[in-house]
Amino acid sequence: MRIVTDAGEFQALTTQLNQEKNIIGFVPTMGALHEGHLSLVRAARAQTDVVIASVFVNPTQFGPNEDLNRYPRNLERDAELLAATGVDYLFAPRADEIYPAGFATYVSIEELSEVLEGASRPGHFRGVATVLTILFHLVNPHKVFMGQKDAQQTVVVKKLVQDLRFACEIIVVSTMREADGLAMSSRNQYLNPSERQAATVLFRALSRARELYSAGERNAENLRQAMIEIIAAEPEARLDYVAITDNQNLTTLSDLVGKTVLISMAVKIGKTRLIDNIILP
Ligand code: AMP
Repeated sequence: MRIVTDAGEFQALTTQLNQEKNIIGFVPTMGALHEGHLSLVRAARAQTDVVIASVFVNPTQFGPNEDLNRYPRNLERDAELLAATGVDYLFAPRADEIYPAGFATYVSIEELSEVLEGASRPGHFRGVATVLTILFHLVNPHKVFMGQKDAQQTVVVKKLVQDLRFACEIIVVSTMREADGLAMSSRNQYLNPSERQAATVLFRALSRARELYSAGERNAENLRQAMIEIIAAEPEARLDYVAITDNQNLTTLSDLVGKTVLISMAVKIGKTRLIDNIILP
């Protein structure tokens, strides 16, 4: 695996790979890699000729009071994992390589960016869309692999690709979980042992919703209330939101009959903010 840190060198490399008619798979990450990230790499390896990953903790997608400074960074370990999983090229730029002095251009996706995570984290998706626009221009990928764990991100990025006519397909890979159901996340590293135990509350609440839905419940508010009760019963958890929306346009649903439903949530466990979701049916 070749590691590239210089954007110009990287673009020259990807231009050549494209000229050689390779089908290019791209896996953007912020590092601190776990099996969830590696499942994206495996999907890319299976579906494309050349697999490119990026590790970049993107400052513009963090709010002023968020965890940019303490976000876990371990490029050496990440590079070993990516190489062992079959990545061909790793782009790992410094922040000033992506955002040089005087950088002034941002991309925002209206409406879809303003609900759910976007409502709790103003500017988050503007940062995501901006960095992905830059990365998509540098890579020119055919297929981009992203996790269902960040459900709204997949919806927003599909809209970005459609509206700005990027010639790539977004492939969504299902969420990898720990044995007790906790969705794998780089932020799980922040949890102390009792918080780690409490963090199962997200999956417990989502599982309860799935159970009620399977038993025939189609009233969104009843599902939401059942989830809120489970979260309220966990002393270390503080609910940010539980939302029951259409999976495509993220509008709030009340009657779930005939809909593809996204149930998504954010919960704070101590200082750590965790998200998770499921799609029904
Ligand atoms: P991040 O490093 O958090 O920006 O995530 C990079 C990519 O990995 C995103 O597309 C995430 O949705 C995806 N991802 C993160 N956690 C998981 C997981 N548990 N299962 C599958 N994909 C994931």
